[in-house]
Amino acid sequence: MRPYLLLTPGPLTTTDTVKQAMLMDWCTWDEDYNVHIVQEIRRQLVELATQHPDEYTSILLQGSGTYCVESVIGCAIKPTDKLLILSNGAYGDRMGHIAEYYHLNYDILSFDETEQVSLSYVDDYLAHNADITHVAIVHCETTTGILNPLKDVAHLVKMYGKRLIVDAMSSFGGIPLDVYDLGVDFLISSANKCIQGVPGFGFIIARRSELMRCKGVARSLSLDIYDQWETMEKGHGKWRFTSPTHVVRAFKQALEELDAEGGVEARHARYCKNHDTLVSGMRSLGFQTLLPDDVQSPIITSFLYPEEGFNFKDFYGKLKERGFVIYPGKISQADTFRIGNIGDVHPQDFEKLIEAVREIR
Ligand SMILES: *Cc1c(COP(=O)(O)O)cnc(C)c1O
Repeated sequence: MRPYLLLTPGPLTTTDTVKQAMLMDWCTWDEDYNVHIVQEIRRQLVELATQHPDEYTSILLQGSGTYCVESVIGCAIKPTDKLLILSNGAYGDRMGHIAEYYHLNYDILSFDETEQVSLSYVDDYLAHNADITHVAIVHCETTTGILNPLKDVAHLVKMYGKRLIVDAMSSFGGIPLDVYDLGVDFLISSANKCIQGVPGFGFIIARRSELMRCKGVARSLSLDIYDQWETMEKGHGKWRFTSPTHVVRAFKQALEELDAEGGVEARHARYCKNHDTLVSGMRSLGFQTLLPDDVQSPIITSFLYPEEGFNFKDFYGKLKERGFVIYPGKISQADTFRIGNIGDVHPQDFEKLIEAVREIR
């Protein structure tokens, strides 16, 4: 089932047991599915997100992660609100793109892709723009692998009394956080990232009081998270429209495997070890990382091309022949490629990867 490992930011390498969980067909109407799988997942997600689960709820939504980001932006920002987007990469920019589509009242603060969102800029902006009601930020910008200072940004945003939306797509389940402690109002992630499920749906952890405020705001029926939530609550796990049943069942298995691994802390430790093995190995072969270590996430790492004229396609093909699929770069300022550390991949896999890189260089 594994011709090669995906060293990518999702879809990623999943366990055989997660894949096997998809071998049974489920009826969306039957309680074996909705009560015992969907409702359990919803509860487990809130418990993963916070030690104060009563204040929060979760919504599962069909589609990829972007559908969930769009659903939150389209439901949380009323015509009388104003959104501030903090961006240092493609996923932050994508939130701006969504706001543009919805003709929202918004502003975007853009930072260099190789720099963290700047606290002093955000502080200054919020001090001079009292009309802002919501702030949105990407936790781990998968574009480069940079980790934004979520705790400090959240602290600032709350100090100014604004609502906080976090795209934690590529970090949730892989980096410990507590939405209550941070003051997050909406957190968004998806099935095929650090929880190590397969693609097909995403989810939102929402502060209950803020979700109530979304009633009647949605500009899209399919992406109405209030309506989706209400149907799930009243129908005990029923989705409004056909749900990706096999994917959802696989996700339940993935959550059990996260728990068996020792939870988010243990997974984070494994990802850090993966990352350390990768980076020290690549550096020993003469490669350099795009980012300095102090802003680098353990999720995905960007490497600079080792020399001008480096043939990425050839490098990619040779690594694939040796059982590793890596990822192209996504920024314009430098020639890079990316290697993911998340999924059912372990430090010994990265040792083998380094051996493979040594062979072909
Ligand atoms: C993966 C990802 C998304 C969602 O992308 P999709 O292609 O819609 O799955 C959004 N934000 C971040 C930071 C991501 O890593």
